[in-house]
Amino acid sequence: MAEIGSLLHELEHPKGARAGTAAPVHAGADNQLVQVRLGTASSLFAALQCKHVATAEHVLRVALSCSAWALKAGLDPSERDAIEIAALLHDVGVIGTPDRILQKPGVLDPDEAAVMARSRQMSLEILRQSCTSADILDIVEYVGAWYDGSRKGFRLCGTDIPLGARMITIAEAFDAMVTDHVYRSAMSHERAMTELFDCAGTQFDPELVRQFAELYVCDQTELRREVASRWLNTLDPNLANSHWQLNCVPPVAGSHGVDGVFQAKLLENMYDAVVFIDATGQIALWNRGAERLTGIAGSSVRQRQWLPELLKMCDEKGEAIHEADCPVNCAIQSGVQSLRRLMIWGRTRQPVAVDTHAFPVIGEDGTTMGAVLLFHDASSEISLEQRCQRLHEKATKDPLTQVANRAEFDRVHEMFVAAHQQQQVPCSLIIGDLDHFKKVNDTYGHQAGDEVIKSLAKLLKRSCRPGDLVARYGGEEFVILCADCDNAAAARRAEGIRQGLCQLPQPKMGGRPSSVSFGVTEIQPGDTPETMLRRADRALLMAKERGRNNVVQLGVGSGGDEFETAGGFWRRKTPPPQEALERVLVTPVPIKMAIEKLRGFVADHQAKIVDIDGNHVHLQILDQPSSRLRRLGDRPVTFSVDARFEEERFQNRGHDQPSSGVLRTRIRLRIGPSKNRDRRRNDVQERAREVLVSFRSYLMAYEEEEQEKETSSLGALNRAKRILAPWLAKK
Ligand code: GH3
Ligand code: MG
Ligand code: MG
Repeated sequence: MAEIGSLLHELEHPKGARAGTAAPVHAGADNQLVQVRLGTASSLFAALQCKHVATAEHVLRVALSCSAWALKAGLDPSERDAIEIAALLHDVGVIGTPDRILQKPGVLDPDEAAVMARSRQMSLEILRQSCTSADILDIVEYVGAWYDGSRKGFRLCGTDIPLGARMITIAEAFDAMVTDHVYRSAMSHERAMTELFDCAGTQFDPELVRQFAELYVCDQTELRREVASRWLNTLDPNLANSHWQLNCVPPVAGSHGVDGVFQAKLLENMYDAVVFIDATGQIALWNRGAERLTGIAGSSVRQRQWLPELLKMCDEKGEAIHEADCPVNCAIQSGVQSLRRLMIWGRTRQPVAVDTHAFPVIGEDGTTMGAVLLFHDASSEISLEQRCQRLHEKATKDPLTQVANRAEFDRVHEMFVAAHQQQQVPCSLIIGDLDHFKKVNDTYGHQAGDEVIKSLAKLLKRSCRPGDLVARYGGEEFVILCADCDNAAAARRAEGIRQGLCQLPQPKMGGRPSSVSFGVTEIQPGDTPETMLRRADRALLMAKERGRNNVVQLGVGSGGDEFETAGGFWRRKTPPPQEALERVLVTPVPIKMAIEKLRGFVADHQAKIVDIDGNHVHLQILDQPSSRLRRLGDRPVTFSVDARFEEERFQNRGHDQPSSGVLRTRIRLRIGPSKNRDRRRNDVQERAREVLVSFRSYLMAYEEEEQEKETSSLGALNRAKRILAPWLAKK
């Protein structure tokens, strides 16, 4: 009791705050007092003691002072309980205040003062976690509120402010004024009391200031005894604990706990606009980003009803967004989030493209509390996207017809060939050239010519399927890459286009139609983009020679299973390096026809004929690795192709007469690099095999032993017939 008595005496005559974190002189007595008053929550007080002894002592003095005052004022015990506890813990948020601020000897700058002021909100956040008494929380919330309501951050004023808060505000102000601080010496009690009266009516409740002054001058001996007795003898520890229990209180929106501070800073400093709309459709938050983007001040829209018209919201086509399809309303009503590019009226009173993200805010009980609307200014991205798009189109499209240009065709063709060969799927190439086009220009004028070019492009585009590519190869020549399409199907498509054009009246030609010729080819083993293109071009030339306005196809095609089983044309086995590839091939056609086929091979590979001696042909092929798909280190290699042809009559089983067999051609083939230094290079070996594969394709030849494996020569003949059928039909 003596200890408490001296403490209470000291309460009236504080000698000065014990700065820093040194152990408190009266820690034992303080703790005893606090433990009976706070019960399990005394650990919060202990934490405050650890952080800043001066504040802990300050709140204890204020609590005891308020207790005496409540006793004198005749407040009922529960009200007194709440005031005492609130007084003890209203500053617990100081735990979160940096020491450099708490112990700064000079005056706090505005930022530091703001941090200090936030400690009250932190106190509330801490207490909300475990305090079950709404009265205590209400008091803590309003400690420091000004009586006239002029202090920011408090909704209530006058006597609406909880009584306990008004009392603590006076008691703590007085205690602060009469205590020494690191930053300021203690005031005299008279001066402090004068200060209270000076601020009565503005900062303090005038009636309570008067009461406090009376308390100060009266004889407090009896009061002290009563307070001491209450705290140490009367208080029921269970009662003290009844105010504490773990609460799962979510942080309050706009709260200034540590998280709240970060969230508030984040929202204010975000470049993007953030708008909160509550469930009733009222705007609850409009951050600085929103002000910057829209030019509308937050203060002018907060608590106003959200309407898309506020920002003249419209879609990318310029059609106004109405309430029904407003992303905010959709989020609130359907609970579904949305991402949309929209236009809004920006701060310069011009439409601005924005990427909007609206999502609902659902409470823990499942009710929709509102929606968040984010705006990201997309104007720079739009112009960048548009510029890229325009550049891409410029680089890849023909301006007159809007189909791909030649560069784009070359790029895609290369990938096309590689992909189709890898997947062993047929693909074809169609080349078309307008007939007698010079004459069209000369007769009807260049503009009429342009119109014909455009109408052909339109027909070509219309015939396209997904995966195909139409390109203007140059002048009045067009190409179509037909994905997953064999020779026959490609020829049918070309025929359809040919008929379409020659039935189409050309207005600028006095209603007369024009015509087009087509060359068609399918990819075949050993092809490069160049051989495929040259073969198609040869086919076109043949179409022109045959009188124009028709379709010619060339090439053996991929041949399906026949070719694969025959010699593994598509397979790339890697046999050990050899100086040259030597094969005996057999083609099931007479020598005349085989030579004809050799012509195609020579033309499309642009082979140089080095020597022809009877049935012996010596060629040179410059294998230019033009393809971007090839390895970087590849360099051109010249291959020497040496082929000896000999015709023979093949005897079928059951036909013993020499004249009864079919004519076929045997070819002894040797392919190797012309230069010695290339002989043992692995990549050269592989490329030589590609030339061999291509030779076999053009000549429709098998390796002899493969053919001989077919014990039934009739089977071999039938197979040859099947392969040759389309070719023979054309001839
Ligand atoms: P062929 O049937 O053999 O193809 O005869 P052609 O007259 O079409 O022959 P050629 O390919 O030599 O002539 C093509 C002409 O196409 C020459 C050129 O003046 C014309 N031409 C090329 N590009 C355009 C164009 O963009 N617009 C117009 N109007 N004419 C073009
Ligand atoms: Mg032409
Ligand atoms: Mg031409």
